Amino acid sequence: MTSSTSDFLIVGGGVVGLSIAYELAHHDVSVRVIDRQEIGREASWAGAGILPPANRATATHPYDHLCGFATELHAPWAAALAEETGIDTGYRKCGGIYLARSPGESAALVGQVAEWREQGITVKRLTPDELAALEPGLATVETNGRRYSAYLVPEESQLRNPLHLKALQSACRQRHVDLIPHADAAQCVVSQGRLQTVVTSRGEFSAGKICLASGAWSRLLLEKLNIATGILPIRGQMVLLRCSQPPFRHILNQGPRYLVPREDGLVLIGSTEEEVGFDKHTTDEAIAELRGFAADLVPSLATAQVEQSWAGLRPGSFDGFPYLGKIPGLENAYVAAGHFRSGLFLSPATAVVMSELMRGTPPSIDLDAFRVGRG
Ligand SMILES: Cc1cc2nc3c(=O)[nH]c(=O)nc-3n(C[C@H](O)[C@H](O)[C@H](O)COP(=O)(O)OP(=O)(O)OC[C@H]3O[C@@H](n4cnc5c(N)ncnc54)[C@H](O)[C@@H]3O)c2cc1C
Repeated sequence: MTSSTSDFLIVGGGVVGLSIAYELAHHDVSVRVIDRQEIGREASWAGAGILPPANRATATHPYDHLCGFATELHAPWAAALAEETGIDTGYRKCGGIYLARSPGESAALVGQVAEWREQGITVKRLTPDELAALEPGLATVETNGRRYSAYLVPEESQLRNPLHLKALQSACRQRHVDLIPHADAAQCVVSQGRLQTVVTSRGEFSAGKICLASGAWSRLLLEKLNIATGILPIRGQMVLLRCSQPPFRHILNQGPRYLVPREDGLVLIGSTEEEVGFDKHTTDEAIAELRGFAADLVPSLATAQVEQSWAGLRPGSFDGFPYLGKIPGLENAYVAAGHFRSGLFLSPATAVVMSELMRGTPPSIDLDAFRVGRG
């Protein structure tokens, strides 16, 4: 079996692993990313690419700091990736509209709006006329008999996951990151307090520092190191519609469901939250329910052509926060996983703090709230 080494080894080539590799590769070190299948084809590919607003200046909780830091980094990362690779990642500040159509949704939205305002994030309540003027394609109270409360969040942004992942891979290659697909990390060899070797189907890999960024599968690898975490797969199903032109301009959010318009007329409908283990199948019921949600909100979508549907596995965690930090008891091993519904959003900030931590520089954000072993 072949054996090779590098300064840094990242296990998992999703948006988290690739972003960490990209960031590390700015620092004159050798970096390798291994993935058990094609790079960037799991949750990071499946996601919607919604980037909610956040404000680091007013953040008090470390999670809000991470969110605010991510918000600051997305625009410069998109610009740098475009310049380095020629790939437009689809990063756009398109704005989001948040809708409530039941008393429960209204109460939740009122709380969310109060939180945004406390954080200094711009949010504007929309009257029915203002809503209709902003998005004429939306169903009205007259057409579907439901009462909306609606808020505009102008800072909400989006990126197109497959393009972002393509750009990250291309930029990593340009920075001489070794990207190795189809290398399933099956065993971890530990001795003298170090993770010495990761044994894969394509050889053995060792490195000065090793980071597990294996998304929903991270718990399985950590269990091999006798580390218990609350990471679990949460299935999200998605439907992609094709319209002749974009039927609305803003991301439309209602409770856990949303519609994301792409500039070329594609519309994403998401998503479910299901605890079904590592099962990535779609179900007829969920796809029908998502289509019903879309048609109810934007009637013209009832006849739009379904381009594709799929499911991805979000890396959930027991408290909703990612695990970012050193693996207890191992001096050279780290974890960056468990970003649940926000991994695309949090990926650049995750990359910067993990790169700092692994290079021995104090992280820009206090990572204690994200430590492995928190209870
Ligand atoms: C339907 C859906 C919608 C979403 N929408 C959004 C959104 O709008 N905004 C947002 O910010 N986030 C969203 N998310 C969440 C986001 O996609 C995830 O949080 C993020 O992709 C996690 O990235 P990751 O790199 O940790 O995981 P992944 O992308 O799953 O990558 C993990 C990688 O590790 C590899 N791997 C696993 N085990 C091994 C092993 N043993 N050896 C080698 N490689 C291994 C896998 O093959 C995989 O490529 C959504 C997710 C889903 C499913």
